[in-house]
Amino acid sequence: MSNLDPAQWREMIAYLQRQHTPICRQWFDRLRPGELNGGLLTIHASNAIEKNYLQKRCLSQFTEAAQVTTGALVGVQFADTSPRPTHTLPSVASSPDPISQPWSPVVPHEPFGTPLRNPSRADDDTNPLDQTVISPDYSFDTFITGPENALAHSAAVAVTNQPGTTYNPLFIHGGVGLGKTHLLQAICQRLLEKYPTMRICYLSCDAFVNQFLDCVQQGQMSQFRHQYRHVDLLVIDDIHFLANRERTQEEFFHTFNELHQVKHQIVLSSDSPPHEIPQLEDRLVSRFQSGMVAPVTKPHFETRVAIVRAKARVRGLELLDDVISYIATRIDSNARELEGAVTTLQGHAAIHQGPIDLALAQQVLGEPDASSTSQATLEHVIDAVTGYYNVRLSDLQSKRRHKSITAPRQVCMWLARRHTRFSLEEIGGYFGGRDHTTVMHAIRIVDQRISDDPELNRNIEYLNAQIAKRPSA
Ligand code: ADP
Ligand code: MG
Repeated sequence: MSNLDPAQWREMIAYLQRQHTPICRQWFDRLRPGELNGGLLTIHASNAIEKNYLQKRCLSQFTEAAQVTTGALVGVQFADTSPRPTHTLPSVASSPDPISQPWSPVVPHEPFGTPLRNPSRADDDTNPLDQTVISPDYSFDTFITGPENALAHSAAVAVTNQPGTTYNPLFIHGGVGLGKTHLLQAICQRLLEKYPTMRICYLSCDAFVNQFLDCVQQGQMSQFRHQYRHVDLLVIDDIHFLANRERTQEEFFHTFNELHQVKHQIVLSSDSPPHEIPQLEDRLVSRFQSGMVAPVTKPHFETRVAIVRAKARVRGLELLDDVISYIATRIDSNARELEGAVTTLQGHAAIHQGPIDLALAQQVLGEPDASSTSQATLEHVIDAVTGYYNVRLSDLQSKRRHKSITAPRQVCMWLARRHTRFSLEEIGGYFGGRDHTTVMHAIRIVDQRISDDPELNRNIEYLNAQIAKRPSA
């Protein structure tokens, strides 16, 4: 069989974009078809992480696309075209400075379960830890920073500049969907880029616990220890799973100490700070606190807007400002849900073969707020605000910029957006012919103040309740 021609390749990608929209990424543009040999099509990815990800997460979709496009029973495999590293890990001998080069050169050793997550060299498919595939989406380039995650982000970057020395361990904590896994994987990716032979072990705490239990049962503790204590970088996601697990904690304590002693980097994430993890031994709490403990918190409006934009970009989607702002207003919990909204919208647009506009977003994502099932009208919102702040509608609609007017006006815009179906333009128009960016600005300000100012928070809650109580029009 001859190789794929360029038109067939384009058709294959177009098929994926139509039929498997959620998996498609902008970096697929960099994939290149290789030879089609003996019914097997090789597709070249530009690095090991992409290759690994495609092989683990996208194989069936690519195979289907190849079969539909060629009309033949072809299989697909992915290859990594990045140059194989020569020995780029600095050797201790050539680097007398143990601080800047804290880890020892690669020592050949018996792989056991092969946790050494350099995927370019992990040529086996039998790795039991491969549930934790590193996603090319989770890089520093695609991570949006804001005041909510600035410390965690800069500490993560610092770790990649000087692993093992600056912050060891780095402990990132926060609620679900706030970017902890993203940062952990970004660290792995950046370090793999810099030091392709670095021995990296990235896994979830769950996997660590399970493996520990298996090894205890099978009498393989020495392999277990060897495996985890001979890595240059140990990254464990969701370490709070150690809660109440005495024996695993004991084992992890020794692993931690051995790595820490030789200045090998440890990075951990958790849903809470070390001292709040239930039943975590004090000595582990103090170890976890001994480096950098960095929180990630819920993103403000501005950060949410940037995250939505970034998630759209990764998918090669152009979203209008109004749609982006709608999503960021509608969903204020975490980045994962923002991403889910982008994917959902993309899916709907693909099915209907139409644009992603505000009408679609409103239809798919529903009302701006669950409490707005009250179908509040703009009048309800204005009544509540003018009554509460003792201002007139004409003031809100005027050009006056005195704080006694601008503050209620901004709150009113914020509430109008939350409780009604009006677009940013419509709301801006209503409030004295202002444009949509003014409304976006108002939403951003109020959003920020809500998280900083408990009193405003209470006022808004009160107003929300007032508006929701109103009989529907
Ligand atoms: P966690 O591990 O904290 O539960 P994740 O790292 O899995 O959260 O993040 C959930 C989703 O949100 C991922 O798709 C991730 O890329 C995205 N995300 C979270 N925070 C950010 C951010 N600051 N910038 C870009 N994407 C983010
Ligand atoms: Mg996570």
